[in-house]
Amino acid sequence: MANLPRVVILTGAGISAESGLKTFRDSNGLWENHKIEDVATPEAFAGNPDLVYGFYNDRRAQLQLPNVKPNRAHEALASLESVFGNNVLLVTQNVDNLHERAGSKNIIHMHGKLLSSRCINSGRSHTWHSKFDASTPCPCCTPASAMRPDIVWFGEMPMYMDNIILALTKADIFLSIGTSGQVYPAAGFVQVAKDSGARTVELNLQPSDKCALFDESYLGRASMIVPQFIHSLIDEYALTQQNSLL
Ligand SMILES: [Zn+2]
Repeated sequence: MANLPRVVILTGAGISAESGLKTFRDSNGLWENHKIEDVATPEAFAGNPDLVYGFYNDRRAQLQLPNVKPNRAHEALASLESVFGNNVLLVTQNVDNLHERAGSKNIIHMHGKLLSSRCINSGRSHTWHSKFDASTPCPCCTPASAMRPDIVWFGEMPMYMDNIILALTKADIFLSIGTSGQVYPAAGFVQVAKDSGARTVELNLQPSDKCALFDESYLGRASMIVPQFIHSLIDEYALTQQNSLL
């Protein structure tokens, strides 16, 4: 359907908070009792690789526990994609796989994925569900190389930025969900979308640092406000479709 809007959605930790996952914004900037700079920087990996491998091995195992499941917010975004198809691009800062498990397909993981390893030699990513460390051989090189967590650490450039910025400049609607607006470059996405004429909408527990740049703000738990907003959006455009046929 040609006249459906192009929607770019940015999601952050707030959408996964109700799915049983802890994030580094819990408990005063500590993540499972680790300071961010000790586990999520290239310097930490160079200085204490065993700690960093172990930290991400634990996060990977936690993600696969039976109590960790997509919630109604993830499901609502998947249902939007099922109606609007490829007009929906989901850009997530989350490294979990809850959007995929809810049924979303057109996803960019700008900060990498927990269930993935990255060969240090070739740079290739490999789907990886179990533990690994410096002694685990990569499946892509001869002789085999070591692998690192496939995570964008603080101080590293997020992935797929060209694709994301291009999509933002073409977006009719930009939704920001569960993200604090403090971490660049994601915090700048709303400005790019706004400058390109998009309707900008924030769905958050609390107003973000960038709330003045949004045309609309809805505050509350993601599992409540995201389904409400998405269903109203689907209804709005379903009506538009019907009217255009008259
Ligand atoms: Zn390799």
